Amino acid sequence: MPSDTPDRKVPFVDLRAQFETIKTDVHAEINAVLERGDFILGNSVAEFESEMADFCETARAVGVDSGTSALELALMALDIGGGDEVITAANTFIATTLAISYVGAVPVLVEMDPDTFQIDPARIEAAITERTRAIMPVHLYGHPADMDPILEIAQRHDLRVIEDASQAHGARYKGRRVGGLGDVGVFSLYPAKNLGAYGDAGVIVTNEDAIADKLLLLRNYGSTVKYHHDIKGFNRRLDTLQAAVLRVKLRHLDDWNAARRGHAEAYGKLLQGHAGTVKVPQIAPYAEPVFHLYVIRTEKRDRLQEHLAARGISTVIHYPIPIHMQPAYADLEHPPGAFPITEEYCSRILSLPMYAELTSDDIDYVAAAVSEFARDAETSTVG
Ligand SMILES: *Cc1c(COP(=O)(O)O)cnc(C)c1O
Repeated sequence: MPSDTPDRKVPFVDLRAQFETIKTDVHAEINAVLERGDFILGNSVAEFESEMADFCETARAVGVDSGTSALELALMALDIGGGDEVITAANTFIATTLAISYVGAVPVLVEMDPDTFQIDPARIEAAITERTRAIMPVHLYGHPADMDPILEIAQRHDLRVIEDASQAHGARYKGRRVGGLGDVGVFSLYPAKNLGAYGDAGVIVTNEDAIADKLLLLRNYGSTVKYHHDIKGFNRRLDTLQAAVLRVKLRHLDDWNAARRGHAEAYGKLLQGHAGTVKVPQIAPYAEPVFHLYVIRTEKRDRLQEHLAARGISTVIHYPIPIHMQPAYADLEHPPGAFPITEEYCSRILSLPMYAELTSDDIDYVAAAVSEFARDAETSTVG
């Protein structure tokens, strides 16, 4: 350990700090499930689904056991499978493409818009073939993808649109909640997401009853009436205890997202003097983002990460290796250089601490450490 090990620590996320603020309600909701004993598809699941649908301004919501399951079941509910192609962002988390692969379809990657980090709608049409069945935009880092041109392309080519909103619970596109903009919207409810359970969970929203009804079958052995099985469904149900936790958290989500936006604004102001060295995230005019992540860019990224770590500040890279360069996707046969923007960004991006409970002192401390590094980089010509 270096002798100047700081006593000050800023973690990347702090789930305990959030728990402290909702403890009483969480205990009460969990206790109510324990008292009822309705552990499988209990009351809390239906209540969470109805509240989540309201929140997303959609007709229906169906809870499942993870975000990855939610993506896979959404594809199945739209009858997408073997031989089909699904267009998605080259710079997403790998779960997006894994779900496409699970159903036997092929993920077709499209490069990002370098300003927003979101799938570039201008590059989508070139990726469409006679096998394309759907476009799966990802609202990465909590910033919405540019949905209007995506929906327009989908309509023109008769494609489905599945939003991977796993990082964007509550974000708005031109005033409307993400998730309800396409045919189906999918949310991971992994603990560290803006809306997170205390374990694995996921939820799918849609305005189409036929899709929601199919999802109810798919998640529960192909059955809605006990021991009557219409299709070969799975066991992918949302756990009742997780639904109970999620109901408590959903009530706070808009406030937590507003706090994240405030933190992002503060970071942006404190770092604006170093725009040549450290690029902060931009917000598109159409977007009300929710800053699941606050991702900056700098050329000496690894050294900045070390500099921050030495000052007790935890950071993460989302994501260090693009999907097309992962061994798992060697079968796509994309050579290095196939997605140059995505590849370049991988070596420059760094996610700073971001969660609702960050204090303004924490933000000042992190920004001061980043600024100190930037000043040094600006005055030195070495390395
Ligand atoms: C977290 C995440 C997922 C996967 O969700 P799990 O709940 O971990 O299965 C899928 N897509 C994106 C973009 C994510 O961030």
